[in-house]
Amino acid sequence: MSDRKPPVTTTDAGIPASSDEHSLSVGPNGPLLLQDHYLIQKMAQFNRERVPERVVHAKGSGAFGYFEVTADVRQWTSAAFLNGVGKRTPVLARFSTVAGEQGAADTMRDPRGFALKFYTEQGNYDLVGNNTPVFFVRDPSKFSDFIHSQKRLPDTGMRSNNMQWDFWSLSPESYHQVTWLMTDRGTPRTWRNMNGYSSHTYMWINAHGEKFWVKYHFKTDQGVETFTDEEARAMTAEDPDFHRRDLRESIARGDTPSWTLHMQIMPFEDAATYRFNPFDLTKVWPHADYPLIPIGRLVLDRNPENFFAEIEQAAFEPANMVPGIGPSPDKMLLARLFSYPDAHRYRIGTNYLQLPVNQPQSPVNSYNRDGSMRYHHTGSSPVYAPNSYGGPQADTSLVDPGWSVTGEIVRAAYELHAEDSDFIQPGNLYRHVLSTTHQAHLVHNIVTHMSQGVERPVQERALALWRQVDPELGARIASGLGME
Ligand code: NDP
Repeated sequence: MSDRKPPVTTTDAGIPASSDEHSLSVGPNGPLLLQDHYLIQKMAQFNRERVPERVVHAKGSGAFGYFEVTADVRQWTSAAFLNGVGKRTPVLARFSTVAGEQGAADTMRDPRGFALKFYTEQGNYDLVGNNTPVFFVRDPSKFSDFIHSQKRLPDTGMRSNNMQWDFWSLSPESYHQVTWLMTDRGTPRTWRNMNGYSSHTYMWINAHGEKFWVKYHFKTDQGVETFTDEEARAMTAEDPDFHRRDLRESIARGDTPSWTLHMQIMPFEDAATYRFNPFDLTKVWPHADYPLIPIGRLVLDRNPENFFAEIEQAAFEPANMVPGIGPSPDKMLLARLFSYPDAHRYRIGTNYLQLPVNQPQSPVNSYNRDGSMRYHHTGSSPVYAPNSYGGPQADTSLVDPGWSVTGEIVRAAYELHAEDSDFIQPGNLYRHVLSTTHQAHLVHNIVTHMSQGVERPVQERALALWRQVDPELGARIASGLGME
């Protein structure tokens, strides 16, 4: 409520409007007039209010905050924003479900997106992770097929468990992530109660040019909390915006969520002989091999003022890596470096990086120019490089992060490392990590999901893979499905 005298309504051209309620007509009963520019502008703008929703991660929300460095990491990376204990960098975080559309319920079984934008002094650093340490596929040529299988049937426009299990059971590499998804972590209680993982492996480079392979683990300081399948389904009906509401209300009441960032750091040379392919996105690095090293804290303490401007138009792109950080040979990561900015150009527009939420908080001195809806211009400064008129010059002391490669050009799976089975790690998750209760929930969740519209041959193929994950798990699922 406001006692303030409101300003006069105007058209978008700033011309005072004479009515908030009535269109211009010939007499009180009409007809309406084409010269009512204000009415036409209102209708035309309304028809254009939506930008296309994200093809994945459409439903989500987020908040602003900061990242604070708590340990000296200069031995591993020269990234300026990580350089110095106590240093703080502004951050935007966005959480999301993957498969559901804009109006989908927050509490459906799905991985959750965990996207971060660090507004560093050397430009934006984006880390586009999930609440799971692995993913369903390891080659980007399967990504769109995988997502299609999680979305809607072409004829009925409905989602289909049969389609999901058909794809998964024909893609054994997905079973680590499917196991994870079917545990109660597939239905987090809130976004505040889940971890975030880079999932991908990245490269860190220190000031001496030494390289390391790294994985990021943002562990929730609120503790991991999950819904059971039944609780999640109940919340889907009770409050489809439950996670969005929870984050907003907790920050509004000053209960600011935080996460401790731990790193796994692998010496560069280890990668070639490590027992798992360290770049395979369907694998973790067991903690016993590469222990977690705490290095910082992520705090979210400010809600967005405008959802569309700051969340719907937020554009995260893993290709935004600052000096001291680089990619790895993870094929999924390398493909995402292209696909994210490509999606933003289509969804938001060529100059999406000029929108306030996406704008770096450090100077931008590029030679890219013009295009649809360009807002900031270079004035009269030179528009080409090299030039003799004081235009920006590249810092040639910067070395692009890389690794050496040789080989024939092929379409082929990764070369196998010693223990690169698709079933060892999900089996370990079932046998060694899950409590008896969580094992029982996993069996229940799988049986429930596989019982809903999944055809017998697909069930049989899926079950054969569960038996390879763990014979006892397979037997329990078979029993639940009446397929002993
Ligand atoms: P560890 O015992 O060292 O690590 C297991 C980790 O699993 C825990 O530290 C915890 O990490 C996570 N975890 C705990 N409870 C659950 C749960 N209910 N559902 C899913 N994850 C849980 O063993 P390993 O490192 O050898 O990993 C064994 C298996 O654990 C892996 O195959 C993988 O499936 C899973 N896992 C491994 C992670 C890793 O990075 N090594 C990370 C997460 C899961 P956290 O605090 O991050 O949740």
